[in-house]
Amino acid sequence: MIKKILIANRGEIAIRVMNTCREMGIKTVAVYSEADRTSLHTQYADEAYCIGPAPSNESYLNTDKILEVAMKTGADAIHPGYGFLSENANFAEQCQKEGITFIGPDAYAINTMGDKITARKTMTAAGVPVVPGTAEPITDIDAAVKKIMEIGLPVMIKASAGGGGKGMRLVEKEEDILSSVQGAKSEALAAFGNDSVYIEKYISSPHHIEFQILADKHGNCIHLFERECSVQRRHQKVVEETPSPIMTPKVRQEMGQHAVAAAKAVNYSGAGTIEFITDDNLNYYFLEMNTRLQVEHPITEQVVGIDLVREQIKIADGEKLSVKQEELSQHGHAIEMRIYAEDPDNNFMPNPGTIHHIQFPLGPGIRHDTYVHNGYKIPIYYDPMISKLVVWGNNRMEAIDRMKRALSGFRISGVKTSIPFLSRILEIDDFKKGRYTTHFIPKNEEELQKRETCTEDGENIAAITAFVAFQNQLQKQIVSSPNVVSSKWKEFGRKKAVTRL
Ligand code: ADP
Ligand code: ADP
Ligand code: MG
Repeated sequence: MIKKILIANRGEIAIRVMNTCREMGIKTVAVYSEADRTSLHTQYADEAYCIGPAPSNESYLNTDKILEVAMKTGADAIHPGYGFLSENANFAEQCQKEGITFIGPDAYAINTMGDKITARKTMTAAGVPVVPGTAEPITDIDAAVKKIMEIGLPVMIKASAGGGGKGMRLVEKEEDILSSVQGAKSEALAAFGNDSVYIEKYISSPHHIEFQILADKHGNCIHLFERECSVQRRHQKVVEETPSPIMTPKVRQEMGQHAVAAAKAVNYSGAGTIEFITDDNLNYYFLEMNTRLQVEHPITEQVVGIDLVREQIKIADGEKLSVKQEELSQHGHAIEMRIYAEDPDNNFMPNPGTIHHIQFPLGPGIRHDTYVHNGYKIPIYYDPMISKLVVWGNNRMEAIDRMKRALSGFRISGVKTSIPFLSRILEIDDFKKGRYTTHFIPKNEEELQKRETCTEDGENIAAITAFVAFQNQLQKQIVSSPNVVSSKWKEFGRKKAVTRL
């Protein structure tokens, strides 16, 4: 029985996992870097331990130190969240050796799916359609040119070890092949320490549609339907929704079956995601599998009514799946928007810094997964994601209206955020109609980049900032004033006056 879990992560996902642990009566252990000493996840856990300096490779990727804390605290299991160690097969193996349960699949599944070339071969053998392309890495440029001309331009040159949208090059002209292969190789080497690249046909009018799967250690595997993630910037997701506005019941069933076949082909256990790329006619191809909890998992939870972290923990504990495929259905519509501390008017430059004041949207149908608070300083060392705003509605239109309301109820001062950009997405006709591809953002760039003049919201934020600054100044005066100790009554009265301001 898992009684105590170490969460080898930070930010919103660490808190997300701890919430489920608390509901299950499981104790939690947080680990943190020196930059995260005051981060909310450290206070949220039952115990918290510093594991090293700010850079991730000295802290959140420090496997020895994390295992040491797990053993010292008597944690039975480790939840890796997403990013960091979540897709690290060596770490999964190390955990196993130390007798600690890694909440995720085994090293074999992680390795097979972590290498895109191996994954493509495995999927082909399992009868899952893959994007037309090469089965082996590019070694010889002449052979690559020949192969590309056979497949037909445009093509994508992709890193076998790729992730996070890195190590990918679109090639449209024959004369660009050499430079693109070289560019993809060097980016892949720098980002992943592996320069193996391969060729995929470029799917035109591409839609990114992925399927959530759950598999136990007894051979049972189900899917929890799709997520539409075609609103992307630089191959990274910005908005996700479920159900997909272009899906049909027939294709959903077929894709779901292929997703289950994909997971079964690697003896998968735990929660995972099979990503597909589809064209406008819903011809679909396996893109990759993410062998972990996905950033956008909450929209599935809202529509299917299953807590994916709870399922992950139960599966890791050896339990059988408690639901059958035919018992699952999609109820209503959910949308997630990733809110980043970045400046959409300045090429999405990260904008870490101190949040002076933050007020979250409230009310029906809103779920907000975050870790920030008033006065929190977003560190420069990690992903500058502030939160994930998730809304649920009875149908797509209701969900869109709710998201508009939620975004307009969001107040934040001190850092620039992607909120104005996200609000503009909801106003674009193609989005409203649900007719968009991964080209949505570049296609609507002009509309999306519309700069705002001082709106009512802007004025509100300015007023809040001024208020908070004034309040802070008053509090400082109270603390530094030599009169403070002179009369308890006076002090009390003054404090009260401050709160009433
Ligand atoms: P999702 O597929 O769940 O939407 P993302 O692709 O946005 O997730 O990645 C989730 C997190 O994992 C991000 O912080 C990203 O930087 C990180 N990540 C993804 N792939 C890799 C990788 N191969 N190596 C290191 N970090 C990665
Ligand atoms: P990563 O591991 O970085 O997430 P993926 O293989 O999942 O890489 O691709 C990320 C995104 O890049 C996809 O969601 C899609 O928008 C685009 N993409 C990847 N391969 C293709 C392709 N063959 N044709 C068109 N778009 C593609
Ligand atoms: Mg991907």
